[in-house]
Parts: sequence; structure tokens; C-alpha cells
Amino acid sequence: MIQEQVVLITGASSGIGAACAEVFAAAGARLILWARRQDRLDTLAKRLPQECTVLTQAVDVRDRPQVLAALASLPPDMANIQILINNAGLSRGLEPFAEAQISDWEEMIDTNLKGLLYVTRAILPDMIARRQGHIINVGSIAGHQVYAGGHVYCATKAGVQALSQGLRLDLLGTPIRVTEIDPGMVATEFSEVRFHGDRQRAAAVYRGMTPLSAHDVAEVILFAATRPAHVNLNQIVLMPVDQA
Ligand code: NDP
Repeated sequence: MIQEQVVLITGASSGIGAACAEVFAAAGARLILWARRQDRLDTLAKRLPQECTVLTQAVDVRDRPQVLAALASLPPDMANIQILINNAGLSRGLEPFAEAQISDWEEMIDTNLKGLLYVTRAILPDMIARRQGHIINVGSIAGHQVYAGGHVYCATKAGVQALSQGLRLDLLGTPIRVTEIDPGMVATEFSEVRFHGDRQRAAAVYRGMTPLSAHDVAEVILFAATRPAHVNLNQIVLMPVDQA
């Protein structure tokens, strides 16, 4: 049952994270929404059903002190996080390795891997102590298939896969669940971010295919979160029908 559970969603200001906020709010969860763009979080919070308890916090997951401070400032009734959705992430550029920007590599590694680690490490001890929790990591098909120019992004998502499996092994013997959700192409701001705001290049990515919607992914995440307590969906790959 998701009703009244506290769910922390990172990267909730757009795309899959924002869609998760909507579907979990509709299911009766209480939400903590993180991203850097506070204005976007607040606009989203206003769209959610009035009866939904929602707290927005501007948090950059790459900044560990900021992560810890945000958690420390939670009101007592929101401090027991039962579901953590590690969704914040991005890809930058598709340049050949020798031409890639080192700053792009650092941004992807710092967000997709270190950010996920910081947030999980900060929340997990409480989950273990309370013997209750579900960690849901948003990976990608890019963790399974490497494509030209995708080297570092694919490496970060392969890393999310290894971390999810490792975490699950570590938590055997506890009731805490770990799920990895690996989507194919999803129509979000992701491509625009990848190409540093170049909308034409971003739109070209989806030409000739029907990508997943952010809601398609959010509904699968809600499904994983609402299985009976003894059922763990380890890894779910969901693809557009026309993506190889
Ligand atoms: P969006 O760009 O729409 O959303 C990304 C979210 O991550 C935004 O809310 C952004 O918020 C947040 N974010 C980025 N950097 C940080 C940071 N340092 N600290 C906190 N929040 C951050 O893309 P998607 O919804 O598509 O991406 C969500 C996840 O899904 C990512 O992990 C992505 O890798 C994965 N994915 C996406 C696919 C796709 O085709 N779209 C396919 C497979 C996986 P803000 O900028 O406000 O901080």
C-alpha cells in the first residue's frame, strides 16, 4: 500500500520525476520533491491534488552537504522516507571520445553515480533501522547497450546497474527492496539537456519513432512500488516498440 507513505523523488522538476510525482500523488503518497529548479517544483506541487502532502526542496544531488542539510531539515512527519526514487540524471553530448568535453563527463558521473550514492547512503541507515524501505533507481537501456558517442553516459548507467545489484545483495536478510528501472527512449527534456539546449537536434532523436512518455515509465515505477512486501522486481527494461 502506497497510501500515506513518504516518497522522495530526485529530479522531480521535469520528465520522469515529475510524472512520478503525479502518479504517486494520485495513489495517496506523501511526497518530497527534489531538483535544482525550485520554481519548477513549486509549479508542479500546485498541479498535484490538494489533499496531497508535498514538500519541495531545491537540492543539487552532486552536493553532499546540501543533500544532508535537506534531509536534516525535514519535518518529523516527513522524515521517515519509505520509498526513494533515484531519478535525477542527465546525458551530455554525443561527441567522439577524443573530442568530448571533460566537464560533460564530470557532470554525468557526479549526477548519475555520485548523486545517487550520496542520497542513498544518507537515507539507507534509517530504512535499515526501521526495517522498511524501497529504493528505486532509474537506470537506462544505455546501461545494457552502448551506442556511438554514448561512452560515458552508458558507463554511468551500467554503473547504476552494478550499484543496484550490489545494494540488493547487501540488503538480503532485510525487508528493504531494490528495483532498477531501465527505460529506452522517453520524450522528456533529456535530449535538449544532452545537446545543451539545441531543440532541433533534440527533436531529431525521436524522428520516425514513438518514444515512451514520462507517464509510461512512472506507471511502471508505481507498479514496482505497489507489489506485495515479499515481491522484489529487481530490474525492469521498458522500451518503445520501435526501438531496437
Ligand atoms: P529530464 O531532463 O526531463 O529530467 C531530469 C531531472 O533530473 C530534472 O528534474 C533535473 O532537474 C534533474 N537533475 C539533473 N541534474 C540534477 C542535479 N544535479 N541535482 C538534482 N536534480 C538534477 O529527463 P528524464 O526525465 O528523461 O530523466 C530522468 C532519468 O531518466 C535520468 O536519470 C535519465 O538518465 C533517465 N533516462 C532517460 C531516458 C530518456 O530517453 N529520456 C531514457 C532512459 C533513462 P533540475 O535541472 O531542476 O535540477
